[in-house]
Amino acid sequence: MSATLARHDPDCIFCKIIAGQIPSKKVYEDEELFAFHDIHPAAPVHFMIVPKAHIPSLAQATEADGALLGRIMLLAPKLALEQGCNPYPEGGFRVMVNTGAEGGQEVHHLHVHVMGGKRPWSRG
Ligand code: IMP
Repeated sequence: MSATLARHDPDCIFCKIIAGQIPSKKVYEDEELFAFHDIHPAAPVHFMIVPKAHIPSLAQATEADGALLGRIMLLAPKLALEQGCNPYPEGGFRVMVNTGAEGGQEVHHLHVHVMGGKRPWSRG
Protein backbone atom coordinates (compact mmCIF):
# COMPACT_ATOMS: atom_id res chain seq x y z
CA MET A 1 0.00 0.00 0.00
CA SER A 2 1.34 3.49 -0.81
CA ALA A 3 2.10 5.97 1.95
CA THR A 4 -0.83 8.12 0.74
CA LEU A 5 -3.37 5.29 0.87
CA ALA A 6 -2.04 4.20 4.24
CA ARG A 7 -2.95 7.66 5.53
CA HIS A 8 -6.60 7.64 4.48
CA ASP A 9 -9.45 8.12 6.97
CA PRO A 10 -12.73 6.68 5.64
CA ASP A 11 -14.72 8.95 8.00
CA CYS A 12 -13.01 12.17 6.86
CA ILE A 13 -15.03 14.48 4.58
CA PHE A 14 -11.92 15.71 2.73
CA CYS A 15 -10.66 12.13 2.24
CA LYS A 16 -14.09 11.41 0.69
CA ILE A 17 -13.78 14.46 -1.58
CA ILE A 18 -10.29 13.37 -2.67
CA ALA A 19 -11.61 9.86 -3.38
CA GLY A 20 -14.49 11.31 -5.45
CA GLN A 21 -17.11 9.94 -3.04
CA ILE A 22 -18.34 13.50 -2.38
CA PRO A 23 -18.49 15.93 -5.33
CA SER A 24 -16.29 19.01 -5.32
CA LYS A 25 -15.35 21.86 -7.61
CA LYS A 26 -11.82 20.67 -8.33
CA VAL A 27 -9.07 23.17 -9.03
CA TYR A 28 -6.02 20.90 -9.19
CA GLU A 29 -4.86 17.35 -8.59
CA ASP A 30 -1.57 15.47 -8.68
CA GLU A 31 -0.22 12.37 -6.93
CA GLU A 32 0.13 14.07 -3.57
CA LEU A 33 -2.15 17.12 -3.59
CA PHE A 34 -5.77 18.03 -4.28
CA ALA A 35 -7.31 21.52 -4.48
CA PHE A 36 -11.00 22.45 -4.57
CA HIS A 37 -13.28 25.42 -3.99
CA ASP A 38 -14.58 26.11 -0.50
CA ILE A 39 -18.31 25.40 -0.35
CA HIS A 40 -18.82 28.61 1.68
CA PRO A 41 -16.43 31.09 0.06
CA ALA A 42 -15.21 33.88 2.32
CA ALA A 43 -13.65 35.84 -0.56
CA PRO A 44 -14.31 36.21 -4.32
CA VAL A 45 -11.65 33.51 -4.87
CA HIS A 46 -11.54 30.87 -2.12
CA PHE A 47 -10.15 27.39 -2.57
CA MET A 48 -8.22 24.95 -0.41
CA ILE A 49 -5.12 22.90 -1.13
CA VAL A 50 -4.95 19.63 0.78
CA PRO A 51 -2.51 16.74 0.92
CA LYS A 52 -4.10 13.48 -0.23
CA ALA A 53 -2.58 11.87 2.84
CA HIS A 54 -4.79 12.25 5.88
CA ILE A 55 -2.75 14.51 8.14
CA PRO A 56 -5.27 15.75 10.75
CA SER A 57 -3.75 19.22 11.15
CA LEU A 58 -0.58 21.25 10.86
CA ALA A 59 0.12 20.23 14.46
CA GLN A 60 0.49 16.59 13.32
CA ALA A 61 2.79 17.34 10.36
CA THR A 62 6.29 15.93 10.79
CA GLU A 63 9.72 16.53 9.28
CA ALA A 64 8.82 13.88 6.71
CA ASP A 65 5.98 16.14 5.49
CA GLY A 66 8.29 19.11 4.92
CA ALA A 67 8.57 18.74 1.15
CA LEU A 68 4.81 18.24 0.86
CA LEU A 69 4.12 21.43 2.81
CA GLY A 70 6.63 23.26 0.64
CA ARG A 71 4.88 22.04 -2.49
CA ILE A 72 1.55 23.37 -1.18
CA MET A 73 3.07 26.80 -0.55
CA LEU A 74 4.61 26.94 -4.03
CA LEU A 75 1.38 25.77 -5.66
CA ALA A 76 -0.72 28.45 -3.92
CA PRO A 77 0.45 31.48 -5.99
CA LYS A 78 0.16 29.56 -9.25
CA LEU A 79 -3.40 28.39 -8.59
CA ALA A 80 -4.37 31.77 -7.12
CA LEU A 81 -3.58 33.47 -10.42
CA GLU A 82 -5.30 30.72 -12.42
CA GLN A 83 -8.42 31.10 -10.27
CA GLY A 84 -8.65 34.84 -10.83
CA CYS A 85 -6.64 36.48 -8.05
CA ASN A 86 -4.95 39.65 -9.24
CA PRO A 87 -1.15 39.70 -9.49
CA TYR A 88 1.16 40.74 -6.65
CA PRO A 89 1.65 43.38 -5.33
CA GLU A 90 -1.60 45.25 -6.10
CA GLY A 91 -3.54 42.00 -5.97
CA GLY A 92 -2.28 38.97 -4.10
CA PHE A 93 -4.01 36.50 -1.83
CA ARG A 94 -4.17 35.22 1.75
CA VAL A 95 -2.99 31.78 2.84
CA MET A 96 -4.51 30.47 6.07
CA VAL A 97 -4.14 27.20 7.98
CA ASN A 98 -6.61 26.92 10.85
CA THR A 99 -5.23 24.51 13.42
CA GLY A 100 -7.18 23.04 16.33
CA ALA A 101 -10.32 24.30 18.05
CA GLU A 102 -8.81 27.58 19.16
CA GLY A 103 -7.36 28.02 15.67
CA GLY A 104 -10.85 27.74 14.18
CA GLN A 105 -10.30 24.35 12.51
CA GLU A 106 -13.57 22.60 11.65
CA VAL A 107 -12.39 19.87 9.28
CA HIS A 108 -9.60 17.74 10.71
CA HIS A 109 -7.69 17.06 7.49
CA LEU A 110 -4.85 19.53 6.96
CA HIS A 111 -5.95 22.18 4.46
CA VAL A 112 -4.49 25.46 3.29
CA HIS A 113 -7.09 28.11 2.49
CA VAL A 114 -6.21 30.42 -0.41
CA MET A 115 -8.36 33.56 -0.57
CA GLY A 116 -8.19 36.57 -2.83
CA GLY A 117 -10.01 38.95 -5.10
CA LYS A 118 -11.25 42.46 -4.71
CA ARG A 119 -11.93 43.51 -1.10
CA PRO A 120 -13.83 43.69 1.19
CA TRP A 121 -14.27 39.99 1.98
CA SER A 122 -16.45 38.42 4.63
CA ARG A 123 -13.32 37.33 6.58
CA GLY A 124 -11.49 40.49 5.59
P1 IMP B 1 -11.59 25.16 8.64
O1 IMP B 1 -12.45 26.03 9.50
O2 IMP B 1 -10.25 25.77 8.35
O3 IMP B 1 -11.50 23.75 9.14
O4 IMP B 1 -12.28 25.17 7.24
C1 IMP B 1 -13.02 24.12 6.70
C2 IMP B 1 -13.61 24.66 5.44
O5 IMP B 1 -14.12 23.57 4.71
C3 IMP B 1 -14.75 25.66 5.66
O6 IMP B 1 -14.39 26.91 5.10
C4 IMP B 1 -15.93 24.99 4.94
O7 IMP B 1 -16.71 25.93 4.24
C5 IMP B 1 -15.23 24.03 4.01
N1 IMP B 1 -16.01 22.84 3.66
C6 IMP B 1 -16.67 22.01 4.51
N2 IMP B 1 -17.25 21.02 3.82
C7 IMP B 1 -16.95 21.22 2.52
C8 IMP B 1 -17.28 20.51 1.32
O8 IMP B 1 -17.97 19.49 1.30
N3 IMP B 1 -16.79 21.04 0.15
C9 IMP B 1 -16.03 22.18 0.13
N4 IMP B 1 -15.71 22.85 1.23
C10 IMP B 1 -16.16 22.39 2.41
